[in-house]
Amino acid sequence: MAEKRDYYEILGVSKDAGIDEIKKAYRDLALKYHPDRNPGNKEAEEKFKEITEAYEVLSDPEKRKIYDTYGHAGFGPTGFDWTQDFSRVRMDFSDIFGDIFDNFFEDIFGSDFSRKTTRTRARGSDLEYRIYVNLKEVAEGTEKYINISRFDECPVCNGTGSKTKKGKITCPTCNGRGQVIRTTGFITISQTCPKCKGEGEILSDPCPNCRGQGRVRNMHKILVKIPAGIENGMSLRLKGEGDIGPNKGERGDLYVTVLIEKDSLFERKGEDIYIEVPITPSQAVLGDEIEVPTLREKIKVKIPPGTQNGDILRIKNFGLPKLYGHGKGDLMIKIKILIPKRISRQQQILYQQLKEIEKPDEYPEIKKFKEKL
Ligand SMILES: [Zn+2]
Ligand SMILES: [Zn+2]
Repeated sequence: MAEKRDYYEILGVSKDAGIDEIKKAYRDLALKYHPDRNPGNKEAEEKFKEITEAYEVLSDPEKRKIYDTYGHAGFGPTGFDWTQDFSRVRMDFSDIFGDIFDNFFEDIFGSDFSRKTTRTRARGSDLEYRIYVNLKEVAEGTEKYINISRFDECPVCNGTGSKTKKGKITCPTCNGRGQVIRTTGFITISQTCPKCKGEGEILSDPCPNCRGQGRVRNMHKILVKIPAGIENGMSLRLKGEGDIGPNKGERGDLYVTVLIEKDSLFERKGEDIYIEVPITPSQAVLGDEIEVPTLREKIKVKIPPGTQNGDILRIKNFGLPKLYGHGKGDLMIKIKILIPKRISRQQQILYQQLKEIEKPDEYPEIKKFKEKL
């Protein structure tokens, strides 16, 4: 890199030039070398950058002091990086030139550059909420109201944060730069301005209702539509239902996490619903028709003769609706054969008779077992 030229020399002013003189010198040179007046002229563009940097330093009393004392070295080994600290120059520029040149900074320094210095209002926070539903609600889909506390636009100042609608003024501590420079010996540190927290602007008359925030907390009743077939732990995103950002910033989103309560009868596996149904040994042997609850109404189910313990009877389309796509899962009835622990006298007689005529060797499993002995 070429040796940096002296800032005073660049602007053609003396070491003791006042701010008006510096401003005038910059204005004259900027008009001469402005890219709009020198289309395609790289040399003019470089010149324009050079004078803008010189102006940025010399027009700022703090930076000028650093430069006067330490020269370019005062801004660290790479020199003063004015591109990092650009907002004030732009403001000064429109001060000096009005609207003669519009948006030229983006053109010559790239859009990345302008993004860094354009103050965008902060977006509001996303909010999270939990909602509990039962399996029957999952089967049908449901709607629920939730009460949330969130930031809304302050009604007193209409979100401006300013009592008298004067709005924001340039921060006097940092002159709108959002950064302050602290100097200790050779070390200079750029810090976020404590007064405006880097915004470059402050409110001269904060609204008492929101303390200048432009937003206040309110309770809201919000209707949440829960789609049928939703899975446990899924989050629904309600766009734009979160906090409003400070000073009319964009709203965040509301995330509602759906938690499904455990059911005492039904167990969910994907879209299928499992239920364990107890029957007696004679129902299992002879077959029967029993009543089984589903997520909607009760239904009659035929138990075929010879049903085994643990057999599963599948009832088509009595499960949960598919969240994506069409159709429903099934109801799976798991048979549990209850062996009576206490029986009546009459049952005992019958079981005794049954035992006498039963031939265990006719059961293949029992026969196999005996062969292994
Ligand atoms: Zn307010
Ligand atoms: Zn400030």
